[in-house]
Amino acid sequence: MMHGISPEESALREAPSILTIDLSALAENWRTLSRKIGRSECAAVVKASAYGLGIERVAPALWNAGAETFFVAHLSEGVRLREILPQAVIYVLNGLLPGTAPTFARSQLRPALGSTPEIAEWSDFCAAEKVDLPAAIHLDTGMHRLGLSVDETLRLADTRRLLAFTPSLMMSHLACADEKGNPATERQLAVFTDLVRRFPDVPASLANSAGTMTGQDYHFDLVRPGIALYGGAPIGGGQALNPVVKLQARVIQVLTAERGEGVGYGGAEHTRRETRIATLSLGYADGVFRSVGSSDARPGAAAIIAGRRCPLIGRVSMDLMSVDVTELPEGAVERGDLATLIGDGITLDAFAAVAGTISYEILTSLGHRHLRRYLGG
Ligand SMILES: *Cc1c(COP(=O)(O)O)cnc(C)c1O
Repeated sequence: MMHGISPEESALREAPSILTIDLSALAENWRTLSRKIGRSECAAVVKASAYGLGIERVAPALWNAGAETFFVAHLSEGVRLREILPQAVIYVLNGLLPGTAPTFARSQLRPALGSTPEIAEWSDFCAAEKVDLPAAIHLDTGMHRLGLSVDETLRLADTRRLLAFTPSLMMSHLACADEKGNPATERQLAVFTDLVRRFPDVPASLANSAGTMTGQDYHFDLVRPGIALYGGAPIGGGQALNPVVKLQARVIQVLTAERGEGVGYGGAEHTRRETRIATLSLGYADGVFRSVGSSDARPGAAAIIAGRRCPLIGRVSMDLMSVDVTELPEGAVERGDLATLIGDGITLDAFAAVAGTISYEILTSLGHRHLRRYLGG
């Protein structure tokens, strides 16, 4: 049978779907933001395994591009990242859980301390160990999710000399910066500016990707982009940087259904003519949400096959979905061909919009059944 093919070639043939992650585009996106912010530092947010793209490959690519400060959500993510990047500054955004300070210290991780009990526990730990370990202080400037209230922050400014550690960053997070012109963003800026004045020796950070794009006032000493690095548009309806992700699925069968037939579970969509259907080996278990499916009442997503846009037909199954390829020339699509769900002109944000969600949720839901190919880096 088929002798002499490489393991890579073989894996490619066997792959039901392919997720291509362009590390050169990712690095270029980081450099673009870094240039944009001038003298501020450009960090990188790599929580949830770099928004699902794989921290083992993404973090070194960002480090090589010049990023030195990284943000993860969980302690376990920080411990993993420390093994990958021994020299990086790593902040853990979800802060300090009771009794976990020794693990932070062992991996040289910095918690983002968002409450007075967390600050007290970190300070007590530093006093007991006789070390001054850096940590961020997270301020709540209007999101009401994490962070010290304004009053607690003012009290901290007055009692700071009692702390057994030196804060390394004053940070807050913007709730509405993805909505252009939302007045809540300016209000948060005003509150943050007023609070960090009281800690003049500590670097400050307010901006996510959207904040970074909003303007220089938001940059402070360090910006914390995530989604912009991964090719999502930070501001609704706005531009993205370079696309980083491409998602393709294999055509496993091409069939014909007569006019008026139901396609897929529930027969939710009926053919309006004799229809050629390409069945793809990709489904909602792979991050292609059921909400991108198509029905008689409502069209769904599309796939690019042989350079043409072909609409989905019927519901998305766990491992399969169907595409109407009637408009393609005879012989243009065959078993084993690839169809593109994200990429080739379909942006991540356009795909997310059809799914009724945001790029972040798409990326972090892509799952682990794809053959992952990393370009560059
Ligand atoms: C996730 C996160 C970011 C990055 O946000 P993007 O919108 O992806 O740029 C920045 N800061 C905090 C606190 C976050 O939780």
